[in-house]
Amino acid sequence: MKKVKGLSVILAAVMLSSCIFPQTGSVKAAEITGEESAEAPDAGNAAYAEAEQSEEITDDEEKSDDAAVHQKASATTDMTYISIGETCQETFSAESTEKYYWFDLEKSGRLTLSANATGLSRLQYYIDDIGGDRLWSKRSSSTGSEKKIKTNETIDLTAGTYYLSVISSGGDGEFSFSLSSEDAGESFKEENGGTDNDRGYANPVEFGQTYWGQLARNDNADYYEFTLSASSRLYLSARAQIKSLYLYLYDAGGKELWKKYASTDSAAKTLEADAEIDLTGGVYYLAVKSASATGPTGSYSFCLSCTDAKESFPETRGNLNNTLSSANAISSDTIYKGQIAANDARDFYKFTVNESSQVTLDATAAIPWVYYHIYDSKGKEVWKQGVSWNKTIGYSSLTKKHTLSKGTYYFAVAQYSNYTGNYAFKMHIHNYKTTTQKATTKKNGSIRKKCSCGHVVSLKTIYRPKKMTLSKTVYVYNGKKKKPSVKVTDSKGKVISRSNYKVYYSSGRKRVGKYKVTVKFKGKYKGRMSKTFRIKARKK
Ligand SMILES: [Zn+2]
Repeated sequence: MKKVKGLSVILAAVMLSSCIFPQTGSVKAAEITGEESAEAPDAGNAAYAEAEQSEEITDDEEKSDDAAVHQKASATTDMTYISIGETCQETFSAESTEKYYWFDLEKSGRLTLSANATGLSRLQYYIDDIGGDRLWSKRSSSTGSEKKIKTNETIDLTAGTYYLSVISSGGDGEFSFSLSSEDAGESFKEENGGTDNDRGYANPVEFGQTYWGQLARNDNADYYEFTLSASSRLYLSARAQIKSLYLYLYDAGGKELWKKYASTDSAAKTLEADAEIDLTGGVYYLAVKSASATGPTGSYSFCLSCTDAKESFPETRGNLNNTLSSANAISSDTIYKGQIAANDARDFYKFTVNESSQVTLDATAAIPWVYYHIYDSKGKEVWKQGVSWNKTIGYSSLTKKHTLSKGTYYFAVAQYSNYTGNYAFKMHIHNYKTTTQKATTKKNGSIRKKCSCGHVVSLKTIYRPKKMTLSKTVYVYNGKKKKPSVKVTDSKGKVISRSNYKVYYSSGRKRVGKYKVTVKFKGKYKGRMSKTFRIKARKK
């Protein structure tokens, strides 16, 4: 190990910046902005601060260090490269109070700093990134009269080059330390503060595969892009070795559709986050983010899968049939399937009633709550009903009959609260055909309207022909042919019009005898009736 020579007490970040980027050498770490991952200089990892004698360095102390920097910023620097796994031995004295190192992390992961010191009262550690941003700082104070300092700290970092500063605040003593790292196993390698920190840089992911990532001191957001080819239920399953984190879903336009805060279960000691989110077809982004700017860090994994909602009218980006004018036309007796999604709050369907009649709606929804509406052609609501599911069976069912006059209507399925899920419905709109049941001499007939479903509307009763009378039943022979006229009345006593039957007379009807007159019904009537008349001899 080379010794660090001639260094002033300076803030390592500034010094190191001047090494790498001389032109920005005097920029204070905390003033470098624009990167989401740039954290406060005193950012500490509260969740993993375990060493009792370690404490985070406060703002005030940071400022006093800055003051020192400006006094001695021109000092030359000397840095030592340290390999991961290598142990360094150093001596601190009144003349040598600062040691500077740089190291490479080949893969994103958890860095462990293990150090032992004797004879020193206090050590301050800083880790800075290659741009000079302060990522982490920690102070370890000695305990007991032997002035021993034991440090064991973990820091989650992306792959990259980093700088470690160790500052002794006094005393002569020995110091040894080593760095080790545990690979986070990232599916998409991130370097120097992360590369997928926004939608524009999201890594594409496939369904059914597990991806690994890491939230680090210098990387508090990872974005992933996926595409749903049709409206679907998305299943997200995430696990993490992180105290807490946020999961987000955004649409292609960057609109936040869903958000979940997840934290480690104290008993299970792992973070488990499972969710089901209903979405229309489209491109989406999943973001894994730190719970706060200085929030807990660590590795995580997730897997996405989906099931197609099998919509009758496929929707993408939630905009296909969300208004009356974009409603999808539906037919009677057809089952339609749809989905209310996190980004699709309503679906409209259009139907026509040909004549005033009852419309039957059968609807089922695997949604805790949903609203159904019917609007008339002008958009005026004529019916509305909220339906809640039977939690045990996991769906609701509704059958509703509406009497609607002739015209165009809209049926809408609409979201309640933030409930989403699949639904299916069928409408039966009566389509009548007029049928005539002919009256017989024994039974009344009728004129009815009948739908294919069997529903019948009765229009008119055709009363059965009951009585047939002849204008004359007895004639006296006079050598002429007899032809009595016929009258038929129905069961209500009303005369049945002549056009409903034909009259047949038996032949002859001139000589003395008995003759038959038969009525044969037609039109709305069927069957026959007959009467006889007689011609008797002239009295001599
Ligand atoms: Zn019908």
